[in-house]
Amino acid sequence: MKPNHNSQENTSANVDPAIIAPAEKLGCSVCGKSRAPLVCGCCHQMICKSCTDFLEADEFYLLDKNPLNTDDKAFCQVCYQEKVLPEMQKYQDLVALAKNIQVFMKNQSKETRLIPRLEKTLRVENCKEPEEVMMRLAIMAVQKKLNALIDMDIVGKKVKDGSYSTTIFSGSAVPAEFNDRRVVKDRSIWQNPN
Ligand SMILES: [Zn+2]
Ligand SMILES: [Zn+2]
Repeated sequence: MKPNHNSQENTSANVDPAIIAPAEKLGCSVCGKSRAPLVCGCCHQMICKSCTDFLEADEFYLLDKNPLNTDDKAFCQVCYQEKVLPEMQKYQDLVALAKNIQVFMKNQSKETRLIPRLEKTLRVENCKEPEEVMMRLAIMAVQKKLNALIDMDIVGKKVKDGSYSTTIFSGSAVPAEFNDRRVVKDRSIWQNPN
């Protein structure tokens, strides 16, 4: 370190402001407002509340991995527009496709007996609702570019959470390529097997 002969220069004014009080000294990276208590989840710049776009807490909750690679919910407006919104759009498209997938339960094996089981069984656990199990499995199938889930099995399990008990759901299904011709349409086959 160089010796400093001028005591005037050795005041806090010459020290990097980020070292002293980051939020106070640097302010909002967008509007310059001095109070910027938030940090953008993408670019990590400090931002004030009015320059921040917030993500819903449960956005992307049906995905195993958050596509933004962060659990942060606050983003500067630039990152929100350029990075967050496109991922939200992709997620909504994925959910829409997943909702349209063909689902056959385990007890419908007679209907689906002609559909080849080529893929590994998918599994999900710790869901709050049976619908969440179904949606998570459906999204996984869509991500594999498949359009059906067969042999779906959903199981509820009571768990104690402190003084009250709650039910959590898990499930499994085989993702498959759905083709109308492979599904046994003649209901008499499975309604009246004899
Ligand atoms: Zn601002
Ligand atoms: Zn940002």
